Amino acid sequence: MGTLSQTRPGPAATKGLLGQAAGPAIRWFEDLGLGDLDSAGGKGANLGELTRAQLPVPPGFVITAQAFLGSMEAAGVRRALAKEVAGLNAGSPEALKAASERMRARVLEAGMTPELRREIEQAYRALGDGQAVRVAVRSSATAEDTAGTSFAGMHETFTNVSGADAVIARVLDCWASLYGQRVLAYRQAVHLAEEPSLAVVVQAMVDSERSGVMFTVDPSSGDAGQVIVEAAFGLGEVVVGGKVEERTMKAARLHAYGEPLRLEEIPAPTPGEGEVVVRVLGAGFCHSDLHVMNGEIKIVPHFPLTLGHENAGVVAALGKGVTGLKEGDPVAVYGAWGCGICDFCVSGQEQLCEAPRWCGLSENDGGYAEYLRVPDARYLIPLTTLDPRQAAPLTDAALTPYRAVKRALPVLTPDHPALLIGLGGLGQYGLKLLQRLSGVRVIALDVSEEKLRLARALGAWKVVDGRAKDAADQVQALSGGKGVCAALDFVGAESTLALAVGATRSGGLVLHIGLAGGSAHLKPLFTSRFEVSYEASLWGTLKELRELIALVEQGGLTLVPSEVFPLEEINEVARRLKRGEVGGRAVIVPG
Ligand SMILES: [Zn+2]
Ligand SMILES: [Zn+2]
Repeated sequence: MGTLSQTRPGPAATKGLLGQAAGPAIRWFEDLGLGDLDSAGGKGANLGELTRAQLPVPPGFVITAQAFLGSMEAAGVRRALAKEVAGLNAGSPEALKAASERMRARVLEAGMTPELRREIEQAYRALGDGQAVRVAVRSSATAEDTAGTSFAGMHETFTNVSGADAVIARVLDCWASLYGQRVLAYRQAVHLAEEPSLAVVVQAMVDSERSGVMFTVDPSSGDAGQVIVEAAFGLGEVVVGGKVEERTMKAARLHAYGEPLRLEEIPAPTPGEGEVVVRVLGAGFCHSDLHVMNGEIKIVPHFPLTLGHENAGVVAALGKGVTGLKEGDPVAVYGAWGCGICDFCVSGQEQLCEAPRWCGLSENDGGYAEYLRVPDARYLIPLTTLDPRQAAPLTDAALTPYRAVKRALPVLTPDHPALLIGLGGLGQYGLKLLQRLSGVRVIALDVSEEKLRLARALGAWKVVDGRAKDAADQVQALSGGKGVCAALDFVGAESTLALAVGATRSGGLVLHIGLAGGSAHLKPLFTSRFEVSYEASLWGTLKELRELIALVEQGGLTLVPSEVFPLEEINEVARRLKRGEVGGRAVIVPG
């Protein structure tokens, strides 16, 4: 670089400026340091500092802020521009746009003085030793890095500029970008009153495949224990432009009972210590979400809340201290998160927790979003053969019947049939699991002809149309007048529970699984036989989900078909489910 500088002209003073605007128009990197912020801007001063520290900085020069102000002064627009910026009070985006266009036009019209043009041409030739070298022409804000302001990415930057005329045109573009909409909005927001000025860096290009920024302090949390590197392919415009700075995501959120979900762009979660962020690739739409949305189950502690408690996906980010998982691992997410310390949690029945923190049903956001924050890695079950979209419904639609059937196992015997009411997603899994885990014959009852056909296809021993007036008598007759050993009610309405209670033999079990708002009335000699047990079964344990996923991955249980929908169609899915138009399970795919 020493030889280059010999061919360069010395600093020249621009003439005819206001007092503080006087100074050299062109300054080479090696003449600059951090004391030159006012004239060379943040970028120029830092490049000077790096050059002086003998770091391998590609050579270049700075067209100073004084040169810009001098040209505006010479054209007679400097005062008018300063006045307009100082008095800027744009209340609307349209007003801001108009002001920006007016000021930019003024700058471009003013152009640069012939002296400055000559100096830039001369410096550019010196930079390339007479050759038309490719350069980057970059705005260097003088107000940057002062008083907590940052114009990162707001002013123009041009790469691969070749030829003196092109360089001069790009310098003018940089100057005009001083009055861009984003800049003006920012100046107004931070009440920046000083006269805008800008230096422009002209620097020989380096072709890089990758570039990035390293922060020795986490810019989002201030954590000095973490080094953050933001990198991108190419020359770093993406990084500098802030396009990867704040990660946001799409989410479907409930803002009030009785409303549809709102599709929103919200900040994506980052994992805290011990936490894991999962990219959601499947989120089963559950009937209980409908009850929550309608306010029939008032469980939401605060609005808005992202619903979705039936999730699977891939590990996207691991919090501090998480072991045994790595990014990209496919996982199913157990959703019945508990407090961890109550009797139920310590005995592994977290779904019964006294202070539940369920995913998508408590203060914790759920999986109708691109990313899901999971509070503990143990809630994740690695998948070996299952696709996350297939696995999602297992975490509730299959887990709930799995637990219910296991609870019923002591009374399920081959010599008495069992009754299953309701063949939605859960009921279909219930039917499969009853057959798989016990030798019982199943009487399936539903009000839809299609569901009854499906029940037959899935191996139900007998089917009963629930719309028939004598449905209860038919069940009695099928059980030889003795009653069924167990009745599993996947609907849970008043009428279905009455049927279940009345159909169950002495010593049998009524399992209340669906939550359609009904209650069970057991009155021996009137509505029920003797020693009939009633149990409202809930969801399942983490251990049961592990068993269930193993059962499926080992081929012991086939999947209930699911229909896949993008997040944007979630309210349509809710409508279809309400009308009974979802065949198996509807799975939302947000990621
Ligand atoms: Zn559910
Ligand atoms: Zn608990």
